[in-house]
Amino acid sequence: MTANTASSLKRCWILFWTVSVAVVAAEEPVSLAHHGFPVEDKTALAGLQYAADPPHCYFPTQFVSVPVIASRHTTHDSKIVTFGLPEGMSLDLPVSSAIVMKVLEDEQDGNDSGKKKRDVMRPYNPISNSRREGSFDILVKIYPGGKAGTYVGQLKAGDAVSFKQTKPNVKKFRYPFFDSSNDDDARNTITMIAGGTGVAPMLQALYPLLETPGDRTRVRLLYGNKSAEDILLRPELDELARRYPDRLRIHYVIGDTAEHTGGTECAGGAEVCGTESDEYEYGWIDEEKIRRLGFPPADPGQDGSSAVWICGVDAMYNSLAGSRLKRITQESTLYRLGYRDDAVWRS
Ligand SMILES: Cc1cc2nc3c(=O)[nH]c(=O)nc-3n(C[C@H](O)[C@H](O)[C@H](O)COP(=O)(O)OP(=O)(O)OC[C@H]3O[C@@H](n4cnc5c(N)ncnc54)[C@H](O)[C@@H]3O)c2cc1C
Repeated sequence: MTANTASSLKRCWILFWTVSVAVVAAEEPVSLAHHGFPVEDKTALAGLQYAADPPHCYFPTQFVSVPVIASRHTTHDSKIVTFGLPEGMSLDLPVSSAIVMKVLEDEQDGNDSGKKKRDVMRPYNPISNSRREGSFDILVKIYPGGKAGTYVGQLKAGDAVSFKQTKPNVKKFRYPFFDSSNDDDARNTITMIAGGTGVAPMLQALYPLLETPGDRTRVRLLYGNKSAEDILLRPELDELARRYPDRLRIHYVIGDTAEHTGGTECAGGAEVCGTESDEYEYGWIDEEKIRRLGFPPADPGQDGSSAVWICGVDAMYNSLAGSRLKRITQESTLYRLGYRDDAVWRS
């Protein structure tokens, strides 16, 4: 963190707590002794409920308000918003997990008839390194008419936003993902398959996977988007691939149809995805691409584990695993490739 960022962060905290304590007190049943002021020590948060075992996430199961530090467009229809945490504190998420943002519905969004504004809840996977002190980032894709998107689009530095974490937001597969005896074993592999904002939990997990001393897990990320312009978090992903070339390989897959080939027009008209190039794979993420670009399933009896982790749209879960929530089906792509249920993780 630069000196400038640190000092603007500090200014934001002072401004935030000065102007918002009364608002937070009115909205939140949580004691201000815990959340009204920066706390050095997490024991000050004792008595609150958490969604997972210690070390606890900063956010308990009740809403806690934090200030916006900065907000910026990262693609034409998505933003990265940075929120402040008290000095010296980090988010400490169980990885993988999301946190729930409380969204104040915009009055123009069909709610301008004098009715009381409703609270809307939306889960987001923080994308910054969960150990980062003093702040964290979320990525929000802005859909036309989307409630959270509209709300996030209008946020500015100093605004207060409330988050909580609930048990369903914490995944059963959790870092360290594999048996500790294998943690330093390069034979542990993960094939990440993401579509659009489904890359957010993947980036969240890449930080501990790649940056924890002794962890040698290898990762291949197959990341699908409609066009090159839609690829989210590319600078962050490319930077990790540059720093860990032996452990992380990324394949960007471009296509608004399964048959999409390079050089054709992207969805939406004039915009051209680019001429066919080695930089991209084209079409959708399918059996052939997973076999060629991902890791094979682990052989029974071999040391090390091989998991496939999917996060994307329903069509992706359905074709690759049969569904998002049920056991993988025998007709699914991953079953045909030799993966069985316990090696298929779904966000
Ligand atoms: C566990 C979990 C983690 C998530 N993490 C993230 C994250 O890190 N970043 C992120 O941006 N989102 C994430 N999402 C999705 C997020 O929670 C919201 O659902 C999403 O941002 C849309 O909310 P909204 O209120 O703006 O749109 P809504 O008001 O719910 O929907 C308005 C319209 O937007 C369009 N729309 C909404 N969602 C989609 C979609 N997925 N695809 C296409 N069109 C859509 C539809 O036309 C819809 O009618 C996550 C969801 C889950 C379940």
